[in-house]
Amino acid sequence: MLLTCPHCTTIFRVDADLIPQDGQTVRCSICHHVWIASPVLPSANQPDEKSADGGGAGSPGYAVTPLSMARDRLKHLWKLCLAALLAASLASGVIMNRGMITAYLPFLINGFDRIGLSIRPAVAQLQVVGLNASYVGDTMRLSGGLRNIGMWRTHAADLRVTVRGADGMIMQETVIRPDDDVIDAQAESGFFVQLAVEAGREAHVTVTPLANRLYR
Ligand SMILES: [Zn+2]
Repeated sequence: MLLTCPHCTTIFRVDADLIPQDGQTVRCSICHHVWIASPVLPSANQPDEKSADGGGAGSPGYAVTPLSMARDRLKHLWKLCLAALLAASLASGVIMNRGMITAYLPFLINGFDRIGLSIRPAVAQLQVVGLNASYVGDTMRLSGGLRNIGMWRTHAADLRVTVRGADGMIMQETVIRPDDDVIDAQAESGFFVQLAVEAGREAHVTVTPLANRLYR
């Protein structure tokens, strides 16, 4: 067997029979260091005993002590935890931003919807602009645009068009869709609707984007 001086690391070849099971005090002939040699330690010339399983027939190698195995496992566990954490934050980012993501990748809408994550337009970043009404007989022709004031492409929202009389009573109400399904950042999508409204009466029109669930 081989003995390594723990002080100067000189390696000595000794007869294994000279080292009893409970150890033997030995002295290094080079540096005169004295230590207790144990028969379970020598394995420098037996690389097959360094396998990670260790502890087989009596002599685990220097390389794989229980401590270093535990450290390796801990390192591995730490990496797993980090990976899980990254995956979780990525998933929550995807879930929180699914409206924006599906505005770029509409084919994901139904997938999200199927797992209970419905997609709704971000009405906070949608503005009704350029509202214009004209009459042809008793038909009100209403046009305008839905503007995306956000920094990212977004889903167009359904629009509730309400026509009220001077007394506040609702004369007409309908839900329409703008021309486009998605609206690029800082762009707008037009809409147009015809409503039967008496031309002679005073009418107030409001157009409200709705956060209705989207299907494709
Ligand atoms: Zn020595």
